[in-house]
Amino acid sequence: MEKEKIEIVSKLVRNFSERSFNRYFTAKRIFKEQFKQVVNEVKDVIFVNELIQCKKKREFEMERIRTSEDYINLIFNPKLIIGDAIEDKIKELLNISRPYLTFKKIEVNDETYIIAGSCDGFINDYVVDIKFKSRINVPAVKDILQIKLYAWLYNTKYGLIIIISPSTINIFNYEAFTDSDVKKLITSWKSPMFSEECKYCPFKEDCDIFIKLI
Ligand code: SF4
Repeated sequence: MEKEKIEIVSKLVRNFSERSFNRYFTAKRIFKEQFKQVVNEVKDVIFVNELIQCKKKREFEMERIRTSEDYINLIFNPKLIIGDAIEDKIKELLNISRPYLTFKKIEVNDETYIIAGSCDGFINDYVVDIKFKSRINVPAVKDILQIKLYAWLYNTKYGLIIIISPSTINIFNYEAFTDSDVKKLITSWKSPMFSEECKYCPFKEDCDIFIKLI
């Protein structure tokens, strides 16, 4: 039985990691490389989920997470499987599916940036983000930044965050960012974006900024 138990856990972790790695890293890399090949004057291609987190963490992620094995070693945590499974099921129940990757161009200080991403889906004219949280059932600041950015990216007036927790389901709505809000976010993008990010960062051992903060 021990052999079967190990096989079940390995299959679960391996399949989940491959799916997440392809969804979050391979797709991003291909898009960035292709975009930069065809549009030379772009200063940077930034994904929504990168712009709402530590700038340096993005560099680490792009450098260190090159295979699904790297993903398992650095990022994987069983809570991610629960979150993903719940998110998929809720999308199915609400009859929404992940839209294609989209992007928008924005000029900041005479330089061109591309903001890209794909939100969880839409309900009527609202862009939607679904989150599973095991303890708190309100959105974190970065969740709010994310939904406002997605609403801007998809040109919807509002965005909804649906939070599922073991005790409740809460829905919050936020107005979309304006161009000027997005410009401010790009110019204030820093490392880390929030002080508590370092505590859970998988790269903290190698990060000189983390060392300065403690
Ligand atoms: S340790 Fe902190 S500053 Fe360094 S990459 Fe991680 S989140 Fe960013």
